[in-house]
Amino acid sequence: MKSLIDQHGRVVRDLRISVTPRCNFKCSYCDPLGDGYKDPLGTVSVEDVHHVVLAAKALGMDSVRFTGGEPLLRKELPEMAYNAKHRALIPDVSMTTNASLLKRRLPELLEAGLDRLNISLDAVDPKAFSLATGGGNIKQVWAGIEAVMEAGLKPVKINAVVIRGVNDHEITKLAELTRDLPLHVRYIEYMHLNNSDVQSYYHAFVSGSETKSKLEATFGELEPLANDPSAPARLFKVPGWPGALGFINPVSEPFCGACSRMRLTSDAKIRPCLLTDRELDLRPALLADEPIPAIQDIFLEAAHRKVRSGITTPLKRPRTMVAIGG
Ligand code: SAM
Ligand code: SF4
Repeated sequence: MKSLIDQHGRVVRDLRISVTPRCNFKCSYCDPLGDGYKDPLGTVSVEDVHHVVLAAKALGMDSVRFTGGEPLLRKELPEMAYNAKHRALIPDVSMTTNASLLKRRLPELLEAGLDRLNISLDAVDPKAFSLATGGGNIKQVWAGIEAVMEAGLKPVKINAVVIRGVNDHEITKLAELTRDLPLHVRYIEYMHLNNSDVQSYYHAFVSGSETKSKLEATFGELEPLANDPSAPARLFKVPGWPGALGFINPVSEPFCGACSRMRLTSDAKIRPCLLTDRELDLRPALLADEPIPAIQDIFLEAAHRKVRSGITTPLKRPRTMVAIGG
């Protein structure tokens, strides 16, 4: 069995695919194109994605995550998931979503073979949620979360990016979800990927250790859980509660040493590192007579270019998270 190994000895096994830069929310830390836009010219097609996934599988990658933008805005998402799961035979096919359209679309996604999903939920209070997401309706998101729990997918992971003055007052309410439900609520540090001005960024940034201290001030010392060393979240729980609390601290405790990722952007570039702006254009390979080997060559080049660690200090980025694929 082949493996794709970068020049720092890390095995690249996870492919993240941004299927659209559009979104129906407008989170304060993100910078999406609105849902009224048509997908910009050059957005990856179902066939492009299938060829990239086949090439990734041939190189030993075994996990594919669909993201965006909001991946559920792509009507062909089930077809993409089906191709990944049943034609490319990827063992782990997942999605990151804001869940606003999930309830209606979950059955077709499960039928297509989707194994897991992560749901973004930055607040529990409806007003705070609407503020954090630029008008999102929490009822729709809850309907999606409930549908996933009813379908028995485990664990259901909830992601919250903590932003001072926007949702930092909601962190205990988010943690309380794990009192009755077996959810994993994961607090993510805000990365400077939306080109906000530097002063506002530093003002809004909340470290994972500050979040954890605030939770411990309310719930007492959190109990550490076994961690998968290759996973970015460090897991804890409130003793006696069924759910878990995770801290993903890419800024204060970068986890580049365990990075196993590669990204396909929505405009067909391979991005070796989320936090480094270097990308490789995949279009010529996608248009080649034999696209799969041509794409594999680009993956090999991209693995060679994976940096030891990304840049977490604020700087002007040529593009934002949605097109890269969060
Ligand atoms: N729309 C989907 C969603 O929100 O789950 C998928 C795309 S979103 C870009 C993927 C993930 O990236 C979300 O969990 C989101 O919270 C996270 N994210 C976006 N911008 C971020 C930033 N500046 N810093 C940290 N995480 C960010
Ligand atoms: Fe949309 Fe996700 Fe960005 Fe929020 S984080 S604006 S839901 S793409």
